[in-house]
Amino acid sequence: MLTSATKACPLCGSSGTLLLLHRDWFPYFTSPLPKAVKDDIRQSLTADQLGMAFDVRACEACRHCFLASRPDADTLDELYSRHHTYPSALESGICPSRDDAFLAWFRAHAERHPLPGKSVLEVACHDGYVLHHLGREGYTVRGCDPSPGADIARRHGVPVDRRFFRCDDYLAEEARFDVVLARHFIEHVPDPASLTRELIRLLRPGGRLILETPNVLYHLENGLPEVFSLQHLHGFSAQSLGEVMSQEGLRVLDSERTPANLILAASAMGSLALDEPNFGPAAQRFGRKLEETVERVRQSTSSVLRRKGRLALWGAGSFGSAAMRLYGVPPEAIDMIIDSDPAKIELEYLELDVPVISPAQAQADPPELIVVASMYAREICQRIRELGLPSEVLSLYPCAPAGPAA
Ligand SMILES: [Zn+2]
Repeated sequence: MLTSATKACPLCGSSGTLLLLHRDWFPYFTSPLPKAVKDDIRQSLTADQLGMAFDVRACEACRHCFLASRPDADTLDELYSRHHTYPSALESGICPSRDDAFLAWFRAHAERHPLPGKSVLEVACHDGYVLHHLGREGYTVRGCDPSPGADIARRHGVPVDRRFFRCDDYLAEEARFDVVLARHFIEHVPDPASLTRELIRLLRPGGRLILETPNVLYHLENGLPEVFSLQHLHGFSAQSLGEVMSQEGLRVLDSERTPANLILAASAMGSLALDEPNFGPAAQRFGRKLEETVERVRQSTSSVLRRKGRLALWGAGSFGSAAMRLYGVPPEAIDMIIDSDPAKIELEYLELDVPVISPAQAQADPPELIVVASMYAREICQRIRELGLPSEVLSLYPCAPAGPAA
């Protein structure tokens, strides 16, 4: 439901904002955890310490989405350093389609707009998959990340510091970089302008800043709420991300909508203006499409439950949590949770006592309905076909997303 706005946009200050999504309560911890950690959290923390009200608003002036109220910084830091799990393409054999799409774009971008040099810093680089490949292609790479991903990177010879990003750690004159990358990071920080300013300080003269973030307009147009969580404090459009860069002194040189993500490269030489259409119609389509999917979920799950069939959720990440909290998959009706990442087997979501199992375990005893909840929906739907599972499949995220925008 859209209401007139009272909350101002954190980027441009406009009070012309729309309410896109509201839940009275939403969890901070949206990834499954080891059972012992989960039991400890459930015993020691109250509902107020496990989550909070969730309001996503959209700014009509600068086409930016944001959380009207945010978790405090300590809660977020705890979450990222201790409880954030994310699959590693270097170790788990998942297909890193988002990273591979970025690498393909990066190579084409460097052809179109030659880079000033070969040194690359990636901030919040997780397991260093992108740096690993750029290193093989002749770049001098460095990264930082506070999660266990940094340890994975180092095991594979990629120099990644396990720590939160602090500009001062990388500011020594000899350590400035030709290219600074930050992928799927800027939407997590309270103050995107100050992060952008710090990243720009790390560039050599003529250097290139490259940011990737979810394309919020794609998610609005397609009624996909899983892009929003208490960890995504901001949802950028090409316009709002470009404006943050230009306010800090760089102009957009090159842009790509993949279409689910935005990639923007900026330098002192850029000249692209990125205006987006008015948010109003997209916000209305978002509400309508989400209601339609919630209704489809309700019909499929209740039909399976009436037949006493079993229901599986495939995707034990934050999208799985969104399936329960935003799409209305009833947690108490979930009989199994499937994930291809061996690192997630036996983990459990905070809200239900169902351990994650492997696709092979599901194949041995197939459920009647599989709800696919992952950004890798296309790969998962393909895997379900390869395994010959007889289950009905309902994918929340598009199984076959449209190709890159022309
Ligand atoms: Zn705004």
